[in-house]
Amino acid sequence: MTDNMQVLLASRPVGWVTEENFKIVNAAIAKPAEGQILVRNHYLSLDPYMRGRMNDAKSYAAKQEIDQVMVGGTVGEVVESKSPKFKPGDIVVGMYGWQQYGCSDGADVRKIDVSRVPMSAHLGVVGMPGVTAWVGLLDICQPKAGETVVVSAAAGAVGSVVGQIAKLKGCRAVGVAGGQAKCDHVVNELGFDACVDYQAGRLNRDLMAATPDGIDCYFENVGGEILDAVLRRTNAFSRIAVCGLISQYNATEPYGVKTFQAILTNRIKVQGFIVSDRMTLWPPAMGELAGWVASGKLKYRETVAQGLENAPKAFVGLLKGQNFGKQLVKLI
Ligand code: NDP
Repeated sequence: MTDNMQVLLASRPVGWVTEENFKIVNAAIAKPAEGQILVRNHYLSLDPYMRGRMNDAKSYAAKQEIDQVMVGGTVGEVVESKSPKFKPGDIVVGMYGWQQYGCSDGADVRKIDVSRVPMSAHLGVVGMPGVTAWVGLLDICQPKAGETVVVSAAAGAVGSVVGQIAKLKGCRAVGVAGGQAKCDHVVNELGFDACVDYQAGRLNRDLMAATPDGIDCYFENVGGEILDAVLRRTNAFSRIAVCGLISQYNATEPYGVKTFQAILTNRIKVQGFIVSDRMTLWPPAMGELAGWVASGKLKYRETVAQGLENAPKAFVGLLKGQNFGKQLVKLI
């Protein structure tokens, strides 16, 4: 074994994150104590929430400390075990962060079955992002067959699953994504009914054309102008699951929503949620998602950066929309 490469937070970004906000170091690989396991991470998940953790601000989770390993989900193989609960070769999902090896007592990891769904997908379509889509759509929005569901960041890890579940439930699925290539992917590969390219400069007009019967459910990943455009198209008693507001994460001035009044006039139910608050829903969600993936009903795409040293660049790219589907880093 060699060193354990790690990526630390070097400084807090003001506005946009840059690669200079990170620092790459080589640490010694930890030696597991009695009751502990050593895991070699195969994939690191890059997720928008990491941007929020980089701020020195109060949020639903603790901030990322400077000079500490960046927080992050990982999937990897147990290479050494001093715990009766694990054996070498076990594949586990954990939160070991931006580093090649993780060591813990195993209470924070989950053994996974990679016979039906590959290892990497446990960080995406059947992992946290997939569960997020499932919870926000099915538990909060509760769409009925025939209704129109709109999701922003539709070509991303969460959004791509939301639209496909909406289709499985008999709804009209409309995505909002950046650029024609992403919209083509969402419609032609993932089976959405329509997709609006918000970068084309005709957001309100194109959203109106894509939602002839209005909008009953909106799965919010982005905020900003897209939220305003969606609120204008909402039907009475529509539901909005506020999952993320990525357009705001690097903004120094918050966007002021102009159509807030629609929430009153259309009696809209708006609910924010954090998927880690809904742990009882993870097992049924993961089971259903894995079944859909295994039967080919749920498709997914991954954008994979090679090598931990490329994680900072890939993370900046994720926030700028350079990923199709789930953004991962392959570590070995
Ligand atoms: P994605 O894979 O969707 O990647 C992020 C995407 O956001 C980019 O590809 C880009 O797509 C889009 N984006 C970035 N900036 C903007 C902008 N200014 N305007 C419009 N779109 C933008 O990420 P995830 O699927 O992992 O996450 C999606 C959302 O879900 C995020 O807001 C995230 O914070 C949230 N989330 C919330 C959770 C919860 O528990 N509440 C759990 C997991 C995720 P494009 O090219 O189309 O612009």
